[in-house]
Amino acid sequence: MLVVVIAMDRRYSAVARRLREVGLRVTAPRVAVLEVLDGHPHAGVDTVAAQVRNRIGRVSTQAVYDVLGACADAGLVRRIEPAGSAARFETRAGDDHHHLVCRSCGRITDVDCVVGVPPCLTPDDDAGYQLDEAEIVFWGRCPDCHNARTTHHDEHEEARP
Ligand SMILES: [Zn+2]
Ligand SMILES: [Zn+2]
Ligand SMILES: [Zn+2]
Repeated sequence: MLVVVIAMDRRYSAVARRLREVGLRVTAPRVAVLEVLDGHPHAGVDTVAAQVRNRIGRVSTQAVYDVLGACADAGLVRRIEPAGSAARFETRAGDDHHHLVCRSCGRITDVDCVVGVPPCLTPDDDAGYQLDEAEIVFWGRCPDCHNARTTHHDEHEEARP
């Protein structure tokens, strides 16, 4: 009997287990949101909502936002907000990794934490604050944008007499 139950639950099992572990009820929207985020790290709420609708049909963006909030509160989802960007979400939560952000196209790439535990950096003077996070974003240009620039530059140089 147990085998039958596990087989029936296989599609949702990994994500459902994550929800149960943090005491969240397993619902279709929650499962869909986590599965979408697993495949699209650093997605914004609109992207997540569109993908969730592809999977399970009509779900409001507000409902998706509520699911993201509940999962973030439970530690299953991490919310990041690079300057100039709408909030992005990812299921790689709780490991204090950091991000490389491209100034040109907005691409976001994970980079492992050197220290491994938050807060990553300790200020000289914490002014009595109980710190639990240091947000570190590395800004620059992604390989695609950098290469596009370099190529453009070369063409420009060659075009000169
Ligand atoms: Zn880029
Ligand atoms: Zn990340
Ligand atoms: Zn760190």
